[in-house]
Amino acid sequence: MKLKKNYCAFLLLASSHLYAQKGYWQQEARYQMDVQVDVQTNTMLGKQEIFYTNNSPDTLNKVYYHLYYNAFQPGSEMDMRSQNISDPDRRVGKRISLLKPNEIGYQRIKNLYADADSLDYTITGTILEAKLKKPIKPGGKVKFSLNFESQIPLQIRRTGRNSPEGIAYSMTQWYPKISEYDIDGWHATPYIGREFHGVWGSFDVRIHIDKKYILAGTGILQTGTQDKYPDKTTWHFKADKVHDFAWAADTNYTKESIILTNGVKINFVYHRMAQNAEVWDAFKEKMPQIFALAEQKFGKYPYAEYSFIQGGDGGMEYPMCTLMLGNKNFNSTIHTATHEFMHSWFQGMLATNESLYAWMDEGFTSYAEDVILNEVLQTKEHLPNARSYDGVITLFTKNLAEPLTTHADFFDTNVGYSVSAYSRGSVFLSQLSYIIGKENFEKGMLAYYNTWKFKHPTPRDFRKIMEQVSNMQLDWYFEQYIGTLKKTDYAIDSLRNQNNKTQIYLSRKGNFVMPIDLQVFQADSMYQFYNIPLDVMRGAKTQDDDAVKIQTQKPWFWTNPLYKLEIDTPLSDIIAISIDASDRLLDFDKTNNQLFLNHITLSSNLNGKLAQIQLHKTKGAWEGVYVEIVQKIAKKTSTILYPIPTQENEQDKLDIILPLKSKQIESIKLKTNIGYFNLADHE
Ligand SMILES: [Zn+2]
Repeated sequence: MKLKKNYCAFLLLASSHLYAQKGYWQQEARYQMDVQVDVQTNTMLGKQEIFYTNNSPDTLNKVYYHLYYNAFQPGSEMDMRSQNISDPDRRVGKRISLLKPNEIGYQRIKNLYADADSLDYTITGTILEAKLKKPIKPGGKVKFSLNFESQIPLQIRRTGRNSPEGIAYSMTQWYPKISEYDIDGWHATPYIGREFHGVWGSFDVRIHIDKKYILAGTGILQTGTQDKYPDKTTWHFKADKVHDFAWAADTNYTKESIILTNGVKINFVYHRMAQNAEVWDAFKEKMPQIFALAEQKFGKYPYAEYSFIQGGDGGMEYPMCTLMLGNKNFNSTIHTATHEFMHSWFQGMLATNESLYAWMDEGFTSYAEDVILNEVLQTKEHLPNARSYDGVITLFTKNLAEPLTTHADFFDTNVGYSVSAYSRGSVFLSQLSYIIGKENFEKGMLAYYNTWKFKHPTPRDFRKIMEQVSNMQLDWYFEQYIGTLKKTDYAIDSLRNQNNKTQIYLSRKGNFVMPIDLQVFQADSMYQFYNIPLDVMRGAKTQDDDAVKIQTQKPWFWTNPLYKLEIDTPLSDIIAISIDASDRLLDFDKTNNQLFLNHITLSSNLNGKLAQIQLHKTKGAWEGVYVEIVQKIAKKTSTILYPIPTQENEQDKLDIILPLKSKQIESIKLKTNIGYFNLADHE
């Protein structure tokens, strides 16, 4: 694969980078494959060699392969999973159980060698396990070779023949793929339709297929080779620094390309028709801007090409390409395409184990998609991933949330998995930017990329980068967010007027502790920005997505349910107080986060027989406003909440005669459903 000019210097710089992890290792697998496709029988004959290096400190006695096509057989683990989960993916449902023998998928291994040793192996579902005759020592190298025979299944999920949009071959998870061995050991995860984890390396793939077909896929297409079979063409692809290889083939593909100013070639491979041409053209036009924003925010795209290929049954990421639906409307198309393209960073280059940390793959990608499209589509939302917040809150409300430490395959429901991976992962990032400040966050995302690209970063690696960039401790955040189902809820508790200063009491009602941003708005439309860090952060942000200077307060002891902040602004000058005006805090009850005051004033007249009050508001509605009256009758004190009559909603001035005797009234004060305000000085 061709890399861009300054790439080597870039790599050198990264390897000696400040944040680099000492002692990190990863396996290497360099694939060479030669595959014959028979389009009459939908079968393949393949020859595969893997040049494998054991970079681990361990001696390996066995090796595992994934044979994904075996999932598409009645009774497979994927079939059973789909038939027994409460909310099956409708693209799968019972469809696997109904496949006929000529429609199923299979991967038959004819032989398997480690160098010259013929290996014994067993196949259980989608996993092949082989014992090694000669263990591979640390640093050892071996050439695995095998021959395989496969039937390409009817498309059920992601891969297969005859996609719902009529693409002949969507070839993903299509070859025997060696399992990853990393610091956690082997990852011989049976395929049930969810996530992946692959070995870093390279692919050199020759596909011989009927002349009528046009191919696209991972890597760079090498200049045409004449095939030894007269009716076939050989498509030769090479890809370096990748961990998977996908391709697609169809007889009706149109292939269009644009070359970006930095030389990267973007390919669009699809059935161009009257009804989808306009959508693809509009998307193509936006692609240079999407690409530029992606690089600016998340790091350089290091490969020479990327291809958007119509295929599959939704949108699915692969190195240097995606297979996606191609007959959708513009909005759906640009969202799917941008999402899959951003997977080039979060999955493609920053290849976390998706099964273990799907939230770092899908969640970070979803975040990037929303942030980039907010600019490209000029939506200009102050919180681009607001819908992810809504999704998370709904998931918790429905009691379908499970800790993010759950292995992707083991979530009880599909919705629990998907909201956890996509939405909670996305919110994780925007909340992190709230904690450490936008500048630190953006620096951190680039440092993460520079340090961990072409590796398998874990949450710990990401945390360390963010801690170094922000000079804060973040373990408390990662632990609560990833390992628990704790919920954040902070509230403005009450205000006190004290010698022309205002005391603001904040309370922690939830069990997920967070630092607090507090904006105090004054009548002249200015506001003060107070930041209350947590003690456990051992630091505080000094900048954020805000022009106003941050006034850092003493830390909030995380064990304390209450916090008192005293500010110089007199209570009478304050018109509103807000916890986190940026809305990045995942607060499960926002009704107690804001307090609008001073637009309602109360005066009372207790000289007459019956108590009289006068209310005056300068804006807003009376909703949620009460008058709280403390009465004392025969030495017994009682509290009455007197709501503003709803028919008075439109009026700004209200004169109310209370049905209470003046002399029995101890105090009258205004209350909202949030808290008290305009308290008398003596209270
Ligand atoms: Zn995704």
